[in-house]
Amino acid sequence: MTPTQKIYWHTTVQMPSDSNLTPLPEKVDVAVIGGGFTGLNAARTLAKRGVNVAVLEAETIGWGASSRNGGMTLTGLKVSMQTVIKRYGREIARKLFQCSLDSVATVEQIVKEENIDCGFSRYGHLVTASKPAHYEGFKAEVDFMAKEFNHAVRLIPQKDLKSEIGSDAYFGALVDEVSGGLNPAQYVSGLARATEKAGATLHARAHVNKLERRGKRFFIQTQRGALEVESVLVGTSGYTGSATKQLQKKIIPIGSFIIATERLSDELVHELSPKNRMIFDSMHYLNYFRLWDNRMIFGGRAAFFPENKNTIARSAEILRREMLEVYPQLKNVNIEYVWGGTLDFAFDMMTHVGEVDGIYYSLGYAGHGVAMATYLGKTVAEAMLNGNIKEHPFSQFNFPGAPLGLYNGYPWFLPFAGAWHKILDWVE
Ligand SMILES: Cc1cc2nc3c(=O)[nH]c(=O)nc-3n(C[C@H](O)[C@H](O)[C@H](O)COP(=O)(O)OP(=O)(O)OC[C@H]3O[C@@H](n4cnc5c(N)ncnc54)[C@H](O)[C@@H]3O)c2cc1C
Repeated sequence: MTPTQKIYWHTTVQMPSDSNLTPLPEKVDVAVIGGGFTGLNAARTLAKRGVNVAVLEAETIGWGASSRNGGMTLTGLKVSMQTVIKRYGREIARKLFQCSLDSVATVEQIVKEENIDCGFSRYGHLVTASKPAHYEGFKAEVDFMAKEFNHAVRLIPQKDLKSEIGSDAYFGALVDEVSGGLNPAQYVSGLARATEKAGATLHARAHVNKLERRGKRFFIQTQRGALEVESVLVGTSGYTGSATKQLQKKIIPIGSFIIATERLSDELVHELSPKNRMIFDSMHYLNYFRLWDNRMIFGGRAAFFPENKNTIARSAEILRREMLEVYPQLKNVNIEYVWGGTLDFAFDMMTHVGEVDGIYYSLGYAGHGVAMATYLGKTVAEAMLNGNIKEHPFSQFNFPGAPLGLYNGYPWFLPFAGAWHKILDWVE
């Protein structure tokens, strides 16, 4: 059976649509570009503080990565905390790690406060060691995280793995009980509702074509009219385009893809992931997977280029093969859905917030944005109001452009980057 090229999560909730387009206002205090976790939670925060705010979304609200992801609501950053300390020092690293803990708590609080039915729970995450040397690295990680961040992570030796994962593919694992999981489409739809309730207006089919600064104000040209605003906040993630050229040049859009199986028996589900963890492996070209409603949701960067009909079709085959390497017991199980979405990588793989030419932004989540985009949407909006974005922990380091400036928004180097990751996985 060929899986349908459809986002499985969208079948579990009524997503915001474009059936009732709200007219664009002529003037607002703040325009937020992008209707995902970043933009919505920024707008919700601003509206709650009495700011007149409009969210401008090119497609429909929640259309981007925010309704397509794995729903893993994770502690930590994409870059290892050892590297973060080496690059930026202990003090900044501690603040950044604390932000990651606060980000999970922020999601938990919003879900509770706004009564969002999205299955959020602190399931914990499991990193599986794909090589024996990776498990040795995990041993050092336990002491490092305790000593530097007072954060407990726990080793699972290979002989005990069955209590965590029904697979023989790994050499041990590391558990972090603080992380959570949710259904992202249900979460982003609920967040959209909460944002409107707070007083913001949401505008689908309002692609921002041009953004122009005139004195202290901005004039925004969208596909269905123009508006004049005092401030702008950009939350366009992997879909950042030429309207914000200076940001587009710093963000590499990378495809990530997911398959969802048919519903499995309770017995099999229990065997695959007895504690319902959010699971990912220790490779550069990694796979991530978790259960939802008795389906195995299995993702990876099967193609480096963003989603289109071809990359999605190819990904279905590749991901199925990789899923069977982890779980051979799924051999006769149908894959019912396959879809893709676009991630945003900065050249240093860090998330960056700040202000450029009067435009505020939060970008570069590198596949780690469920919790972080929610959190930074809130804190960047607050910093915008308080005028202290330069003090934000995520603006304490340089937002690098491409080496030698060799990038104008078209990621011609992705095939090489993909090959490079495969080489790293081979040698490390
Ligand atoms: C397949 C996949 C799996 C993932 N899994 C996980 C996971 O398990 N855990 C995790 O933490 N993270 C994961 N992520 C990453 C996470 O989904 C993102 O980091 C997060 O959703 C980013 O939210 P955002 O609001 O910044 O961007 P998005 O949700 O991508 O929203 C950006 C929006 O901006 C709009 N836009 C762009 N340009 C314009 C314009 N000119 N005018 C108007 N609108 C514009 C786009 O249409 C889009 O809707 C995954 C991502 C993908 C693609």
